[in-house]
Amino acid sequence: MKIIIDGIECEAQSGEMLLQIAKRNGIFIPTLCHSDALPGLGSCRLCIVEIEEKGHKRIVASCLYPVRSEIVVYTHSEKINFMRKNLLMLLYARAPLDDTINKLRKEYGVADDIRFSGDPDEHCILCGLCVKACEEMGSFAISTVMRGVTKKVSTPYDEPSAPCIGCASCAHVCPTDAIKVTEKNGIRTIWNKDFQLVKCERCGKPFATEEQLEYNRNKLSEKELEYEYFCEGCKKVLISGKLKEIYRDA
Ligand code: SF4
Repeated sequence: MKIIIDGIECEAQSGEMLLQIAKRNGIFIPTLCHSDALPGLGSCRLCIVEIEEKGHKRIVASCLYPVRSEIVVYTHSEKINFMRKNLLMLLYARAPLDDTINKLRKEYGVADDIRFSGDPDEHCILCGLCVKACEEMGSFAISTVMRGVTKKVSTPYDEPSAPCIGCASCAHVCPTDAIKVTEKNGIRTIWNKDFQLVKCERCGKPFATEEQLEYNRNKLSEKELEYEYFCEGCKKVLISGKLKEIYRDA
């Protein structure tokens, strides 16, 4: 089916999320809480767009909107820009010194001095992407805790969490770098827990925690287990070398 986004005709599969279709066609829609590796969350709301269907217009979150008919989409209409500006003002109030938020709020013309004041040390916008990533991993080590203005993402009772394997997936997906991970002397520290890092057998670079390798072990095929102790870069080099050998001998 064909849909029109900002005047551009785009091919869409029925049920495909609007944000994905826009991305595939090189149309930029701002978002903070979206990762291509995870299902849409719709929490930051920045990906809102205006859609027109049978003469009726409405606002939807594009990361959560499955396209089922031939709609017309406006990603930067006056109404959308106005709403995004307000959303960015609230996000700025929440995380006033965060670079990502500041870059976006300047683009949308949010003033420096707004009437809400936030904690200058706060970077978390409570989008929940880290919690989702951890859930998808199967660890369930973190969640949102408390309520209202004290709501935050944490481990149970802020203690080092037993199911946490130190994979740092939560930190990698965080749009505002709010989750602190340090790596020093072969030890990774995240969520108040220390993890011994394992070195790559080829290049010697520390690349994963013991717990991470242990966790992955049950999920890997026999072939993949051959490369268990190699970092991603070396794994690629070794696999492509092996493939070359196979082709040469064939
Ligand atoms: S580091 Fe811990 S909390 Fe973060 S995704 Fe991995 S298991 Fe979950």
